[in-house]
Amino acid sequence: MHVDVALLQKYSKPGPRYTSYPTAPYFTEAYGEKEWREELARSQETGRGISLYAHIPFCDTLCYYCGCNMVATGHYEKASHYLELLLREIDHSARLINPARKVEQLHWGGGTPTYLNPADMRLLASHMRSLFDFSPTAEVGCEVDPRELSEDHVQALLDSGFNRVSLGVQDLDANVQKAVNRVQSEELIRRVYGWMRDAGFSSINMDLMVGLPHQTVTSFSRTLDAILDMAPDRLAVFSYAHVPWMKKHQTLIVEADLPDLAHRLQLQQLIFERLTEAGYEYVGMDHFARPDDEMVQARKNGTLYRNFQGYTTHRDCDILAYGASAISQTDSAYMQNLKKIPAYETAVGEGRLPVERGLTVQPEDRMRRDLISRIMCDLVVDAEQFGQLWRLDFYRTFAAAIEQFPEFVRDGLIQWDGRLLQVTMLGRIFLRNIAMLFDAYLAQEQADKPRYSKTL
Ligand code: SF4
Repeated sequence: MHVDVALLQKYSKPGPRYTSYPTAPYFTEAYGEKEWREELARSQETGRGISLYAHIPFCDTLCYYCGCNMVATGHYEKASHYLELLLREIDHSARLINPARKVEQLHWGGGTPTYLNPADMRLLASHMRSLFDFSPTAEVGCEVDPRELSEDHVQALLDSGFNRVSLGVQDLDANVQKAVNRVQSEELIRRVYGWMRDAGFSSINMDLMVGLPHQTVTSFSRTLDAILDMAPDRLAVFSYAHVPWMKKHQTLIVEADLPDLAHRLQLQQLIFERLTEAGYEYVGMDHFARPDDEMVQARKNGTLYRNFQGYTTHRDCDILAYGASAISQTDSAYMQNLKKIPAYETAVGEGRLPVERGLTVQPEDRMRRDLISRIMCDLVVDAEQFGQLWRLDFYRTFAAAIEQFPEFVRDGLIQWDGRLLQVTMLGRIFLRNIAMLFDAYLAQEQADKPRYSKTL
């Protein structure tokens, strides 16, 4: 795959990651608790499964690249207090949910869920299990920070029915780790990975990151050697999103130390080559898995879906997300909880649903969401089929996007035969740019107010 830097410059521009459509910047505060209560009441009869999420926004230290809603603190009492209110929020919400609905998926993210001590992890898990009916095949996953993890944490996860874990690794190079304030030796990662394997979790994911300061193809290649030797079931290799205007602490990263565009591309190419050689298959943006993994199968069968949990095989689930900043989703609405921890705690303490903002999905949004989802998940769209499904003339509805196809074809990002739109190998790197062609909201963007990270 040969790409020149001019092409990269052309396509490296701010763009959404499409974990929702419309995307989060379009959620509005006009959507409040009343609207969300009505939506919950309406959505109980849809027969959809449930995907639960709990957000633990605490970490021991701050990684300078962090893009999450988190607080670094050594005061565990803050987490204890938060947990008390989180349990209360879940309790309150569960009373509004039809008890016949099954939980197909549970995920704990953060921050660092394993910041909680093992006893509190057990408490949170048993609380959730006591209020909801879990399917016996439910995927139950947790993000894990290897640095402060103990074997007791692993046992607590096992005893609480977790069957998937995701380890935050990012990069094993000491220079890179120091520059981003996340120091964790390869020995530590191997030890924690060994605990996870011995515990028998059915899927172990590792998160890596490219675009970090001091990263080179040689240094990252060494990281990949070690990671591939451990052989996790899944790998997510995220691109570092440098957005210091949104995340003030990212100013702690020295911009001159960041790899330039050409190096970022080389790193992307390295990942594709090394992971493919090692037998992993591409799932979708940033994600790879073994060929027998259900995500890979779902992509091939056209049943993969993308939501706030990333890629998922649970397309027909509503997400009920708890904790500060967590985003819930039904088939026709999105709702985000209050982002600031004190405001969240006050609202829950007063018996309110801690709604900050949200959005009702309009019929046109739904149709475009499906199209963007097909691009992000299937990498192919059949214009005729899509038109029939949504009862529209694809060519007329998307005339403005189609006008831009020849340029994307010339640049090698897509193939278009007048009916089938197919993403090429190169197009996988620019998946967001291709999806952006169909985003009706981007036209409203003000160029001087970037809301998104760059696509590469
Ligand atoms: S551990 Fe994760 S959430 Fe916490 S600061 Fe680091 S990147 Fe952010």
